[in-house]
Amino acid sequence: VKISKSYKLASRDFHPDNTVIKIKGVEIGGDELVVMGGPCAVETPEQIDEIARLVKASGAQVLRGGAFKPRTGPYSFQGTGVEGLVMMAEAGKKHGLLTITEVMTPEYVDVCAEYADILQVGTRNMQNFDLLRKLGTIQTPVLLKRGFSATYDEFLNAAEYILAGGNPNVMLCERGIRTFEQYTRNTLDLAAIPALQTLSHLPVISDPSHGTGRRELVEPMCKASVAAGANGLIVEMHTDPDNSMTGDGVQSLFPDQFARLMVDLEKLAPLC
Ligand code: PEP
Ligand code: MN
Repeated sequence: VKISKSYKLASRDFHPDNTVIKIKGVEIGGDELVVMGGPCAVETPEQIDEIARLVKASGAQVLRGGAFKPRTGPYSFQGTGVEGLVMMAEAGKKHGLLTITEVMTPEYVDVCAEYADILQVGTRNMQNFDLLRKLGTIQTPVLLKRGFSATYDEFLNAAEYILAGGNPNVMLCERGIRTFEQYTRNTLDLAAIPALQTLSHLPVISDPSHGTGRRELVEPMCKASVAAGANGLIVEMHTDPDNSMTGDGVQSLFPDQFARLMVDLEKLAPLC
């Protein structure tokens, strides 16, 4: 199979050593596993505070939560916006967690970077080139999610936009691709983990929540991702998944499941 390798800065040929991204003492891309846990969406101060407490107690290092939500339909809950950023920053600070949140447009990059430690580019925006270019102008670490129909080459070229702009702090996230299968929301491409690590020096994070869309599949796919060499995991967890404000409650772990997962993961790999 011929790979075009039109990307350069993202390529391992260009940069043989693994990229290790250091954020306030947490090293992503080294020998230790980073776990990012939290709700799909930041809903209320109480919700994000309680989930942050549980994420920290379980031993994870990063609090996830979307303030700006890319919803399929325009009438669905679109997120709590800047208020959500504030709520999450407070919860992260109080509980000693790094934070990651999604940014959808170039205009909001600066405000999101002011409140969060890591910026997430969602699957629908992997080829939002203006957004990628803007993210290249700052130094805040970026978690770039694979487009749900993107090849590895397209994915690495998207990363290249950020790197080429001058931001070296990029991690790749496999979050499942669209296939003919309907039972799962997406098909988590486990082979992407070692394949991307061969093609690139950037850390690779796996998202079994969106990769399967089914709560009962999240734990086995987290473990499979670690076995495949993932540098980290991003996992949805909610204290009341049945009443979560996005449809992602069905894939969100209950807090006790998240805690048990963390105990099991520690047996597979040292945590950050
Ligand atoms: C999310 O992380 O909640 C999300 C919307 O992810 P994705 O872009 O992978 O669908
Ligand atoms: Mn989600």
